[in-house]
This record gives sequence, structure tokens and C-alpha cells, in this order.
Amino acid sequence: MKISVIGTGYVGLVSGTCFAETGNQVICVDIDESKVERLNRKECTIYEPGLEVLLERNVGQGRLSFTTDLEYAVANTDIIFLALPTPPGGDGAADLSYVLDMAEKLGTLIQDYKVIVDKSTVPVGTADLVTAAIAKNAKVEFDVVSNPEFLKEGVAVEDFMKPDRVVIGTTSEKAMKIMERLYKPYVMSGNPIVFMDERSAELTKYAANSFLATKISFINEIANLCDLTGANVDMIRKGIGTDDRIGKRFLFAGIGYGGSCFPKDVQALERTAKDYNYDFKILNAVMDVNAAQKHMFFKRIKETYEGKLAGKKVAVWGLAFKPNTDDIREAPALELITNLLAEGCEVSVYDPEAMDNVRGIFGDKITFSKSMYLATENVDFLIVATEWGVFRTPDFEKLAKTLKDKTIFDGRNIYEKDQLKELGFNYYSIGRP
Ligand code: NAD
Repeated sequence: MKISVIGTGYVGLVSGTCFAETGNQVICVDIDESKVERLNRKECTIYEPGLEVLLERNVGQGRLSFTTDLEYAVANTDIIFLALPTPPGGDGAADLSYVLDMAEKLGTLIQDYKVIVDKSTVPVGTADLVTAAIAKNAKVEFDVVSNPEFLKEGVAVEDFMKPDRVVIGTTSEKAMKIMERLYKPYVMSGNPIVFMDERSAELTKYAANSFLATKISFINEIANLCDLTGANVDMIRKGIGTDDRIGKRFLFAGIGYGGSCFPKDVQALERTAKDYNYDFKILNAVMDVNAAQKHMFFKRIKETYEGKLAGKKVAVWGLAFKPNTDDIREAPALELITNLLAEGCEVSVYDPEAMDNVRGIFGDKITFSKSMYLATENVDFLIVATEWGVFRTPDFEKLAKTLKDKTIFDGRNIYEKDQLKELGFNYYSIGRP
């Protein structure tokens, strides 16, 4: 099938590459010329495990190309995916300007029947707005389909190639058949393609992300209660996670959720509810708990040092909002570093993939270290902000020598309390008093 993907970021690049991997002819479009040039040279512009190999193969074999020429892409493809940003607008609602501006342009460009697919996360009712924006100028038949994306950064290729489910929102029989044919190779093992109307598909995506964020805020509140009562959140996680109705995943206490999706999507769903005069109480609590959780961890660090952080040298391991990605959008580490700098700390950081993205934010205000141990040389204490695999079993003897205060603040609960105590560390984690 002939496909174009407009917007070649985390979602667009993974989707386009994975569509090419099953034999489709794919053109990815972006406005960022340097990104397009690099991708055409088979240079991966994001860190995503497994993506580079697929990119090389599919560009090499001529199934995948990148361009800034929208008109060319539209003329040469039948299915057009929109994988454009939908960042939070001023009032928390998703900013639809990228999607709707593009829809208007597409209306002027399409010369024959096209299926236009919203892959961006968009509020309920957007398919109608996109249809109207295209129809303003279009002289030919087209269908708009809502096909929200559920991939997780860090395992995005695997998620795309073997999705738990594919959600297709359309009331057009013709578009439904085309989309079914396109996705069939990805669900050979029997996972479902769930067909529904456009509005339900749009809301499904927000419901999924908001539910997952709720799980995180819930376990964080349990962890805070553990700190007060002497219970251990690790035990509680095991105690409740084995119940099928609850499930083992997304029950890890920490310094709050971040990333480009949960914060903005929970906020946008709350905004949608407000637009319909519905008070979605749980969502407000989820956001409040998350904001408090990020703050609470820093407060604990400050209290440990009785408010005297000025002049302290601090190492931070992990900058990305989660492991196996270079994405730093809304990463808890950023707020932590900002707070440390405001208190007058000197900060050195290490992250296996995300340091280049952070350079643009802090510049020379912090030290970027070439290795995790260089970051900890001659510092007073260490903070673990992202649970990258490489941080899980560090050389504690080395750390004991380099951390002047022999103190570790573990924002992801990745170390064994008893082991660190035996080794003589002052160790602080979350919900494990
Ligand atoms: P991104 O910022 O990584 O990528 C967006 C891309 O669109 C950028 O490369 C940008 O240059 C390009 N772009 C902007 N305007 C353009 C235009 N007019 N023409 C062509 N290209 C243009 O964003 P993302 O993380 O891939 O997210 C895209 C959408 O997918 C969002 O709605 C997001 O909520 C949703 N989503 C993201 C994830 C995720 O894990 N990142 C997962 C599921 C859904």
C-alpha cells in the first residue's frame, strides 16, 4: 500500500518505518529539513531500540523515504497519516493547530480518494473538525479515520510490530476495509483490531493514558502512606499486583510520571470534561498527586540537609523521563535539577542517551559527564532519577569512595535497602521506610 506519514517524530518515524517493514511504500514528511536529510542518510534522529536497523533496511531497499515536499507525498500515496504534535494549549486543552492547519492544506492538495488518518492524540470530536477543514477546499471524496497510537517509547518498535490491539475509529465501510488490510500483518498472532466510531476511538486513547496515570498516582499515595506508617510499598505492590483485576504493571512508586503523553493527556481530558460541564474529580486528584510527588522528593533531600544545600555537589543519574529513550519532555529530573540549582548546588549529570537533549536547556549551568562514575567523582551525594538498566547494579565500593556523604537518594526504588545499609550508605527511597 502507498502511505505517507506527516510528522516524523517519535510516533511518525516509528510508524512509517514499521509500515515499510511489512512491504508498504512509505513517504515520511517533516518540516525540519535537517531531520529529513539525516533520515535519508539512514541516520536515526531519535533513540529507540531496534529502530536503526529497520530504518537502514527499509531506506536501503527503497521502501522508505523522507521529504519536506508535502505535495509530492500526497500525490504519491493513498493513505495519509497525521502524526503531528498536539501540545497543551494555554488552557490545558490540546492545541489542534498543527493538525487542523495540515487538514486545510490537504484539502487543497488531494486529487483523488484518500484515507486521512489521525494518529496524533486528539480530543473527542477532532475527526469532525478535520473532516470540515479538509472539506473546505477538497473537490474529491475522502474519509477521515481516528487511529490512536499506543506505542510506548523505549519499546516502540516492538509495540508497533505486535500491538496489544489496534483501534480504528471510522463509520466508512471503505476506509474500514483499507485500514483492516493495512494492519492485518501486525495482528497475525490474534490480537484484535477493534473497530468503533471516531469519537470512541479518540476518547479511548485519553482513557488509556489517564487510567495508567491514575495507577501511578495511586501507588505513589500508597507509598507516601507507607513512609508515615512504616509499611513497605514493595510488599504492597507484590501483595496486590498478583490479583488479576489489578495487575502487576504500573505499580511502581517513584518521583511522579512525566513524558510527552501522560501529563498533557490527563490535562486535556480534564479540559474536555470541563467543556462538557463535567467535573472529572479523579483526574484533578491524579494531577495534584503527581505534582506533589515531584516536589516531595526534593523536599526530602532538602530536609535531610536541614535546608543547607548551597554549595553541595550533586550527581544526578538519569535525565530521560523513563529508561530506553532520549525523550526528556516533562522529565522529573529536569525539575529536580532546576530546584538544586536554585538552592546553589553544583550539579553533574549522566544519562546514556538523553544528554544532548538536556544541553539545550541547562547549557553550562551543569556538568555533562562522559560516564556514570565520572558524574559521581568528588560529589557529596547521588540522586537516581531514571531507572536505566546500567544504574541497577553499580559498583557500590567505587561509589562509597567517591560520594563524600555516602548518601544516595533513589527516586525509582531500584536498590535494596538492606544491602545499602550494610555497605554503610545513607539511603533514601520512596515508601520503603
Ligand atoms: P514529536 O514532537 O516527536 O514529532 C512531531 C513531528 O512533527 C516533529 O518532527 C515536527 O518537526 C513535525 N512537524 C511539525 N509541524 C509539521 C508540519 N506542518 N509538517 C510536517 N511535519 C511537522 O511528537 P510525537 O511524540 O511523535 O507525538 C505526535 C503525536 O502522537 C502527539 O499527538 C502525541 O500525543 C501522540 N503520541 C505520542 C506518543 C509518544 O510516545 N511520543 C505515543 C502515542 C501517541
